[in-house]
Amino acid sequence: MITVTKTFFPPIEDYQFQLQRIWNNQWLTNRGALVLELEEKLKKHLSVSNIIITNNGTIPLQIALKLLGNCGEIITTPFSYVATTAAIVWENCTPIFVDIHPEYLTIDETKIEAAISDKTTAILATHVFGNPCNVEAIEAIAKKHNLKVIYDAAHAFGVTYNNQSIFDYGDVSTCSFHATKLFHTGEGGALFCRDASLQHQLFYSHNFGHNGPLDFYGLGINGKISELQAAMGLTVLPYMDIILKGREEVFNYYNTNLNFSKLKTIKIRENTMWNYSYYPLILQSEEVLLGVQKALNEQQIFPRRYFYPSLNTINYVFGTLMPMSESISSRVLCLPLYENLSIEHLNKIVVIINKAL
Ligand SMILES: *Cc1c(COP(=O)(O)O)cnc(C)c1O
Repeated sequence: MITVTKTFFPPIEDYQFQLQRIWNNQWLTNRGALVLELEEKLKKHLSVSNIIITNNGTIPLQIALKLLGNCGEIITTPFSYVATTAAIVWENCTPIFVDIHPEYLTIDETKIEAAISDKTTAILATHVFGNPCNVEAIEAIAKKHNLKVIYDAAHAFGVTYNNQSIFDYGDVSTCSFHATKLFHTGEGGALFCRDASLQHQLFYSHNFGHNGPLDFYGLGINGKISELQAAMGLTVLPYMDIILKGREEVFNYYNTNLNFSKLKTIKIRENTMWNYSYYPLILQSEEVLLGVQKALNEQQIFPRRYFYPSLNTINYVFGTLMPMSESISSRVLCLPLYENLSIEHLNKIVVIINKAL
């Protein structure tokens, strides 16, 4: 069976080495030595000045929205994983959807201003499949209308834009270190912020609001990660170069061998160093998609319909029509992509798709 992704399992001896350190320390959570070490290593690896590692990639969205959303209207994309919209609703904010760009698949910045009202407090946009949003245009709009910008950068580990980490953009960026993501800790995530005062608020918010054992800065929740998960992160991180190289090869194979007269893939924004996190096929219709999916499934190959349905259509929001997102969402299929997918399997996948078209 070939699935859309395969979690990277480092050699078990490497993990046991990190576990031994935990046993030596007799310290299992509350920002222990391994969490602190992983934060330092990730800052270097990503060239960022600040990071707060969290227990998943959803709680950082909630914390950012709690601090910056102010229960107002949040301009957001309908083409993302459900967590983006769910976090907005969960924090008693209202998602206001803006349609997506047909090629970049990120929020269409030219349509944002028309969606702003006097209740708008923030923009929450996703660097979908690791492809950066138009961060300059979004920043200009946010400045003009005095809005905060949060980026759901769950897919964007290691991506740089204009030679700068994509996590440096916006008031806050978040990432996911879930097992299906590029870099993982099993479950985990992170908050990135360059403003010292906001960083301080994010930090205490993720740790029950604590200011020492007996005092509190303010409201907080439990967003902490344990040493066991940090151990996985420390074990996986040294393999990131190999993981990226392998993914690039798979990406290049698809690019050279698929029949692009009848399909498209995502257009990566100019000046981006991308991370090969997903391979979205954009087919001509949902009917074609279902045919391709069926042909692959019959050979035990399981691509995924990321992201379907378009989030403006889910049952707990009052979304307006989003023609581009609804269209793309019905026609996009993410192909298997992981570092050790063999040429033999890749060839099989490509032959099935080209034949089914
Ligand atoms: C995976 C993902 C999340 C949620 O991350 P978790 O670590 O699973 O909580 C949020 N947004 C997007 C776009 C994602 O793909």
